[in-house]
Amino acid sequence: MTAITDSARRLEYLRTIGVDVWVRRDQERDAGCVTRDASENKSEPEQQAVSVNGASDHVTRDASRVTMGHAASNDTGSMDWSALAAPETTTQETPSDRVTRHASRVTMGPAVSTDTSSMDWSTLEAAVKSCTLCDLHRTRTQTVFGVGDKQAQWMIIGEAPGADEDAQGEPFVGRAGQLLNSMLKAIGLQREQVFIANVMKCRPPQNRDPTPAEAACCKPYLHRQIELINPKLILCVGRIAAQNLLETDTPIGKLRGQVHRLGKSQRPVVVTYHPAYLLRSPGEKRRAWEDLVLAMTEFDRGRGNNA
Ligand code: URA
Repeated sequence: MTAITDSARRLEYLRTIGVDVWVRRDQERDAGCVTRDASENKSEPEQQAVSVNGASDHVTRDASRVTMGHAASNDTGSMDWSALAAPETTTQETPSDRVTRHASRVTMGPAVSTDTSSMDWSTLEAAVKSCTLCDLHRTRTQTVFGVGDKQAQWMIIGEAPGADEDAQGEPFVGRAGQLLNSMLKAIGLQREQVFIANVMKCRPPQNRDPTPAEAACCKPYLHRQIELINPKLILCVGRIAAQNLLETDTPIGKLRGQVHRLGKSQRPVVVTYHPAYLLRSPGEKRRAWEDLVLAMTEFDRGRGNNA
């Protein structure tokens, strides 16, 4: 991650995601930014001001100026996960058996692959496209495989396609997607620079939570995507994404604010709130910003750049 050198642009993005920024008048001119009257921000009345007096050129340093708070969150992350913890049905065949059986059906040719672990990108994409492992295939318009740079250093993992994504075949294209784009811009990343995928490749009807059995069917697809992309850092947005990826029922309020390690490679994972939740609860954008700073700091650390 390179330091964000354009202070004015960065401050504007922070405002876009709802982190209000106050800059001293003498520095305001230097930063080239215009301090807006709080009353202009009618759409996000709950947002709180964060002082970035003496704004530096590196967002990481701004983190120390963001007040850390642990007030209870009313995010759906505090919902009980136990309803999802047990498989819906007990069958002899496990979800991974089904994926293996399915993969052997969808992979044609002499070098038949029997599981996702040896699939290349296009084979994996084809496997997802024709997947009928769970009932979500009956109601989907199309699968949503993911979008972005296949060699991205950052991977963003969300929950599942919504109506817009189901219609367009691309993750995070609705209002939540626009906020996600702004969040990425705030840390100096364009949407095209990262890879964006979901835990679920098909839309659950009425955007309900995926069942554990459905999530288990999709899991090998996501994990193969992670292996192939080999990102330096995963940013997991929302409770469902985080709990599935990290295989835990810990509430999101406890998962965020720390760096998790995934798999043998100990790949860093940072959890933050889902942009759709942030749209409903703009007061939480400040915490999301803290998470983004944590992710960026960890990314920099992983590259041996602690400046
Ligand atoms: N929410 C998600 O988690 N993923 C999407 O692709 C869209 C909305």
